[in-house]
Amino acid sequence: MPVYNKEELVRFVEEAKQYARYGKVADYIPALGKANPNELSIAVYTADGKVVDAGDVTVKVTLQSISKILALALVLIDRGEDEVFRKVGMEPTGDPFNSIAKLEEVQPSKPLNPMINAGALAVTHMIRGRSVEERLERLLAFIRRLAGNEQITYSEEVAQSEFETAFLNRSLCYFLKQHGIIDEDVEELMDLYTKQCAVEMTCIDLARIGLVFALDGRDPHSGELLMPLDVARICKTFMVTCGMYNASGEFAIKIGIPAKSGVSGGILAAVPGRCGIGIFGPALDDKGNSLTGVKLLERLSKTYSLSIF
Ligand code: GLU
Repeated sequence: MPVYNKEELVRFVEEAKQYARYGKVADYIPALGKANPNELSIAVYTADGKVVDAGDVTVKVTLQSISKILALALVLIDRGEDEVFRKVGMEPTGDPFNSIAKLEEVQPSKPLNPMINAGALAVTHMIRGRSVEERLERLLAFIRRLAGNEQITYSEEVAQSEFETAFLNRSLCYFLKQHGIIDEDVEELMDLYTKQCAVEMTCIDLARIGLVFALDGRDPHSGELLMPLDVARICKTFMVTCGMYNASGEFAIKIGIPAKSGVSGGILAAVPGRCGIGIFGPALDDKGNSLTGVKLLERLSKTYSLSIF
């Protein structure tokens, strides 16, 4: 696997950084607005267990929408496909992640997919446990196993900042409640969802989770199955069809790697059988994807023929 040429990776990061001035840090969650738009880091975790990185990979990034794919994997394990897809669909929307527009399109009403906020809220609702604390702990335990890092936790500051300002997400919850997709207290669900989104980790952790997906659910070191093959397959399929918001089509054509981004500027990518990639670049494009991160992935994909298509 030729991707682990450190000097080349450093050069690609420097090239991609030039685009930071065209991007903008997300500030609708006030705490995210503090990020430095010129930051760009990457880790590539290859199937043979080696890591190559560039940029400051000690910086932690909150998962935001990347968490949606991990919560989905957990509820698929918890409840199985049939139950999960009774509450959330499988189709891309072409709308922004927080859009409320197409919620009534499917009859009986359900969110079109688990990557838009409405669908993600329905998924988080399905995490098993007797309290918010127990459900969060179960999700954290799952994420720690995937990352092979027991230290992973969430940022209270970012969670609190989103909790105080998540008016649109609350309205999505009320819509879901009206239509019988969720039946819990909206403030409780928002508490769990904002903490899930605020789970933070380094690019190396992100890359290692990407590698688990790339290896169809296997731990790269022990070979243990951390999630069933079908769960890994479903998650990767959603990454391709709607992992990069309403730019997923263009991303599939130009880059062709299953990936999930978050408004913090994080990207988790899984190159099947080959490597996991974690990126942090908080300068976002107008769709909410890391602008510099996407440029960097495009360069890597072209250089090493990483497209799955
Ligand atoms: N916590 C964010 C929200 O729900 C996640 C959005 C994202 O990363 O796309 O608004």
